[in-house]
Amino acid sequence: MSRVLRPLVRLPWRSIPLRPFLARRSYSAPSTEQAQGLKTDYPDLNRVISKRNHGDYSQEYLGKPAPEGVRLLRAKLDVMIDGEARRFRYLLLRDACKCNLCVDEHSKQRKFRTSDIPSAIVPRDVQWDGKELQIKWATDIEGWGPDHVSKYDVAMFKDHRANPPKSDTGKMRRRFLWDKKTMEGRQYWVSYEDYMNDETAFITSMRHLALMGIIFVKDIPDSREMVEKIATKMGPLRNTFYGPTWDVRSVPEAKNVAYTNVSLGFHMDLMYMNEPPGFQLLHCLENSCDGGESLFVDSFRVADSMRWRCPERFEDLTKLHLNYEYNHKEHIYNNSWPVLETEDGDPKNRIVHVNYSPPFQAPIILDEDIHANWPGYRRALTAFASEIERPYNVFQLKLKPGECVIFENRRVLHARNQFNTEQGKRWLAGAYVDEDAVLSTFRKCRNVQYHTWHWTRILGPRDAINAAGEGEATAENHGTE
Ligand SMILES: [Zn+2]
Repeated sequence: MSRVLRPLVRLPWRSIPLRPFLARRSYSAPSTEQAQGLKTDYPDLNRVISKRNHGDYSQEYLGKPAPEGVRLLRAKLDVMIDGEARRFRYLLLRDACKCNLCVDEHSKQRKFRTSDIPSAIVPRDVQWDGKELQIKWATDIEGWGPDHVSKYDVAMFKDHRANPPKSDTGKMRRRFLWDKKTMEGRQYWVSYEDYMNDETAFITSMRHLALMGIIFVKDIPDSREMVEKIATKMGPLRNTFYGPTWDVRSVPEAKNVAYTNVSLGFHMDLMYMNEPPGFQLLHCLENSCDGGESLFVDSFRVADSMRWRCPERFEDLTKLHLNYEYNHKEHIYNNSWPVLETEDGDPKNRIVHVNYSPPFQAPIILDEDIHANWPGYRRALTAFASEIERPYNVFQLKLKPGECVIFENRRVLHARNQFNTEQGKRWLAGAYVDEDAVLSTFRKCRNVQYHTWHWTRILGPRDAINAAGEGEATAENHGTE
């Protein structure tokens, strides 16, 4: 079998465009005599140009032909990876070396600066077996001896970043988009005990958080300390002028609209800051008033459906920058954000964040772009605002004491129904964790238990009951009230 297959497997490698250039290349550099033979006024310049365009420097640098699949140029090399020629500069390859001489084994900090690398660095030996590239350097950084070998695994040339933004743990990861109906059937609940002490349960809940942007913790001991415990399991608390953790209670003359008993429209928190927090926690300690239900909407789903139904409005919202401010005696903040933030600002690319918080909006009267394009912007903004509030998008529940919601601040819009404080009390303790910290936790979870991370699926109501037995939350016991 393998004898039959072998020639077939080899076929793509043999038919790749490397063949023509291998056949074309000459291992001997043009001699000075040849260059002089051109009889131009600038023989040296001609020699350089002809080498730059066509020259193979293997003989000059290595004293022999380069290994199969590698071609050496003056300042860079080509290497065939999965049938595709990839070109890298010697200087940047040298810069990427992660050997123990270059990167401290324990701290993982680099022992050289990019600017220390001689600009004329070239290889003196190159090995390539299709999986690993090895290079010894002719003019290495001062202090690096002849023993220094730089090794590059093939994975390094694909995406070497510690947490690639488009991977399933990155900030541009694919999401599971939801509406009211999906969410009523597929909320993810985990007990405090499992979340804190069962590694697999924690990783599964982080996977749900990464996909859905919202999860719930239940059976939490009745203590004001708990929100900090739950938050710091994901990452360090994000401190703000509200404090490392804060309380939402009805107080007279509230400065922030969240601290009153009137209804609060859909918004995201701290959009007036340069780095709005990535994740928010609300732990319910008391909720015996009438009303006070929490409402959630997946703004990524709203934006995504807009992209398909009216792409010009979606595009307008990637251009429309709104201003946000917090302007009180003690604290003065303002920032501006596009409503829809896409990768590189291109409306065809993935959504990175949604930025939308009407209660904290500031005037946009001086913005020339808004003046010039207002009719389109207004249509787009109105469509977005009304789509958010459509009943089929709004998931509503009333948190009970001992329950905590964790949600992605720049994806899941939150709101609250008004409540009556004349009878009963309402008290939520809140905390924030930065996006960076949670993305790091996602990656760590994936590294620790790849199978759990990779195979966790968003379960439907029947699956959830089968998987978790009685007590798993469904629309019946945590739905609308
Ligand atoms: Zn090294």
